[in-house]
Amino acid sequence: MIPFNKPFIIGKELSYIEEAVKSGKISGDGIFTKKCQTFFEQKYSFPKVLMTTSCTDALEMAAILCDIKPGDEVIVPSYTFVSSANAFALRGAKIVFVDSYPNNPNIDPAEIEKHITKKTKVIVPVHYAGIACDMEEIMNLAHKYNLFVVEDAAQAIDSYYTFSDGTRKALGSIGHFAAFSFHETKNIIAGEGGMIVINDSRYFDRAEIIREKGTNRSAFFRGEVNKYGWVDLGSSFLPSEIISAFLYAQLENLEIIQKKRLEIWNRYQSGLISLQQKGVISLPEIPSYATNNAHMFYIVLNNYEERTGLIQYLKEKDIHPVFHYLSLNKSDFFLADNPEIDIPHSDHFTDCLLRLPFYYELSETEQDRIIELINSYFKVITIS
Ligand SMILES: *Cc1c(COP(=O)(O)O)cnc(C)c1O
Repeated sequence: MIPFNKPFIIGKELSYIEEAVKSGKISGDGIFTKKCQTFFEQKYSFPKVLMTTSCTDALEMAAILCDIKPGDEVIVPSYTFVSSANAFALRGAKIVFVDSYPNNPNIDPAEIEKHITKKTKVIVPVHYAGIACDMEEIMNLAHKYNLFVVEDAAQAIDSYYTFSDGTRKALGSIGHFAAFSFHETKNIIAGEGGMIVINDSRYFDRAEIIREKGTNRSAFFRGEVNKYGWVDLGSSFLPSEIISAFLYAQLENLEIIQKKRLEIWNRYQSGLISLQQKGVISLPEIPSYATNNAHMFYIVLNNYEERTGLIQYLKEKDIHPVFHYLSLNKSDFFLADNPEIDIPHSDHFTDCLLRLPFYYELSETEQDRIIELINSYFKVITIS
């Protein structure tokens, strides 16, 4: 059986958890939480990082930081995970769904501009498969219309964007805020886990307060105030030391993990490229401004029927690929209050995109079997 995903342990995860427990402090903001935050701040030049229990939490924090009020409009790609929209909907925002590029699931900046109104407050670029959205274009729009940018960088750890002047920046360091995930399906895992990056120093203090249930507890522990109390909106977004201990062990092995994932990605690419040349599938497109962090390998089939057939064919051989993201503009929740709208490229990915099994421990033999079966599926269907 080859599953779609398999969580893994690579280093000192379990001994760090033991260490955290024995230290006598397993709630949040202990040694491991701080080690993780410092690691990210140093490695990716993030001005401020706060660990959270998920990317969803980090997005919800970002929505509070943007001061979303009922009626504000937030631009989100239709082809994304529910949290990119939910975090803002929870604060009363009207979600405005925008299409992807035709050949790349990322949000198309030209489509964003068409949907900006006086009520627009935030753009949420989602770096699909860890491949950068066109951040230069998006930041230009944000400056032109005075909008916040919240990067949904759930899949985008260790990925970069190069601006036209040659400056290269880590994804997550470009918008006002960014949200990352360490869910077990991502490159670096902690079971459930996430972080928010705050790139604008005006929001450092407020972010800390929101994460601490709306209290100034962190300032109190630093001795900056002599009592702490309720000062703002907030919730319980702080992960326990057990999560951070696990995560820190993964971070110590980040380069090894990324090297291995890139090898897996390249093996899929070279094993399937001939199918792209024959025009039966397309492979991921990596624009020249983006790097590849090997988060995911997907193929896009020519139609829904061929995708359904391939899933069936692989499942019979005990291989479990997955499709995901159903255009959010077609979701029951959105349609309950909104008219149906046409978002064609997002619908195309909804119907035709397929994610192949991808995890740290996927062996070359297993991968070769997957590649061989996909090739043989297309031999069968092109003959019949
Ligand atoms: C995984 C994912 C999320 C949610 O991450 P959690 O840590 O599970 O909350 C949000 N957005 C995108 C694009 C994701 O891939």
